[in-house]
Amino acid sequence: MPTEKMQRISLINLEQNFQEVEQGYSNQEATEEANRCLYCYDAPCIKACPTGIDIPTFIKKIASGNLLGSAKTIMSSNPVGASCARVCPTEELCEGSCVLNYSTSPIMIGKLQRFATDWAIQNDRTLFGPGPSNGKKVAIIGAGPAGLSAARELARFGYDVTIFEAAEKAGGLNTYGIVSFRLPQRISYWEVEQVKKLNVKIRTNTAVGKDISAQELLEKFDRIVLAVGMGNVPSLEIEGENLNGVYDAIEFVKATKTGKLSQHFIGKKVVVIGAGNTAIDGATCSVRLGAENVKIIYRRTAEEMTAYDFEYEFAKMDGVEFRWLTAPKRILGDENGKVIGIECYKMKLGDPEADGRRRPVAIQNSEFVIQADAVIKAIGQTRHINLIEQFGIAHENGVVQVNPQNWQTSNPKIVACGDVIFGKGKGEAMVVTAAQQGKMAAYEIHKQLSSVSSPV
Ligand SMILES: Cc1cc2nc3c(=O)[nH]c(=O)nc-3n(C[C@H](O)[C@H](O)[C@H](O)COP(=O)(O)OP(=O)(O)OC[C@H]3O[C@@H](n4cnc5c(N)ncnc54)[C@H](O)[C@@H]3O)c2cc1C
Ligand code: SF4
Repeated sequence: MPTEKMQRISLINLEQNFQEVEQGYSNQEATEEANRCLYCYDAPCIKACPTGIDIPTFIKKIASGNLLGSAKTIMSSNPVGASCARVCPTEELCEGSCVLNYSTSPIMIGKLQRFATDWAIQNDRTLFGPGPSNGKKVAIIGAGPAGLSAARELARFGYDVTIFEAAEKAGGLNTYGIVSFRLPQRISYWEVEQVKKLNVKIRTNTAVGKDISAQELLEKFDRIVLAVGMGNVPSLEIEGENLNGVYDAIEFVKATKTGKLSQHFIGKKVVVIGAGNTAIDGATCSVRLGAENVKIIYRRTAEEMTAYDFEYEFAKMDGVEFRWLTAPKRILGDENGKVIGIECYKMKLGDPEADGRRRPVAIQNSEFVIQADAVIKAIGQTRHINLIEQFGIAHENGVVQVNPQNWQTSNPKIVACGDVIFGKGKGEAMVVTAAQQGKMAAYEIHKQLSSVSSPV
């Protein structure tokens, strides 16, 4: 029999739970905030933004009511600037460097960026046009932030650009991976449309290496941009992983973004394994699906977790519980193959590993069971090794090796950017860095194929 609480939750419109959490500025709020900006000479926020947006200029345009000009300033530096306005860890980037941190409070750059780009979206503005055709052809593999950004810049230079995208829709993790209550799909789709309006062809449902060969692309195109990101969550290699009720966090979030909101979580107990941003997303989505109790288990401590502070706080506000120094031993199921719990070890921290973090060690005979109806795995992402090897380019465990000066891979015809080149100790996998690398990869191709080196 469903409890009273379960009945109440089941009445909740799940779709409503996935509406954006953060509200945008009103005209008055945006104008007031824009007028607080000091328009610093040599503004530190510009340097702190990986895409180098001219922040004081876009803010000044908001203050003077020139919203089209403001959106153009943002999007000219960052082809996915509308998404970034919502998903950038601004406290660590632009806002973190605002001089007003030392006196009052930083300018809310992300929210102002959202205000200007939302205006362009609501008013259906096309911000840029294609450059005159130069007759050269570039294939881009992957239509995520890195691929779209490279495509946008190459099209503005006049290249004939085709993006090959395995998924049904373009946008990469902006479309399928970042939770709807922070980034609705319509924002990502608008950015994709902006790129399409530059005559970029996007062939969705086309996986390179499967539907079209690496060799064919190498033969037919002058240059290739590899921007395939990373894959799904790797296997835990523990017993019970195939039970009914075990989910891959990335597939799980994707299901919530594509409207497949499961009623099965209402009143259920969920355990999420891992403590990165993806784990937080899995946990907060579970809460929004009506789960009664959500626990994140992590084999290290809060100090070593990779989730941003604001994500951690957000999860705690959602009522997510954290169990530190806890590692899964096996997932337990009933006679019908359905998850009923997870057996864990208590852990302690040992000597530091190569990355400086202390190694988690299982404490002998410390096993205990946490009851669960669902287990969500969020322990990182796999790599597209098979595809990378079809192109025959150098990689280290699936991280494509590039020259950091020019994004060149070991094949002179191929540049790579975004999560596909992201490896441990090499910054953070973020939308804004993928966008910047896409731009740089495009400039390198243009440098190689022409004598001009800046956008039209
Ligand atoms: C759950 C989650 C939450 C995140 N939250 C944030 C956040 O809040 N803020 C932030 O800044 N970053 C966040 N990130 C990181 C950010 O999404 C990535 O760093 C960024 O999307 C990388 O862009 P990309 O273009 O390199 O890869 P992706 O966005 O992964 O795009 C790669 C594209 O390539 C396609 N592809 C793959 N293989 C093939 C093939 N063989 N042929 C054709 N196409 C192929 C894929 O379908 C995909 O569309 C998050 C990541 C995850 C997983
Ligand atoms: S793209 Fe991100 S880091 Fe750059 S100004 Fe906008 S919100 Fe800040």
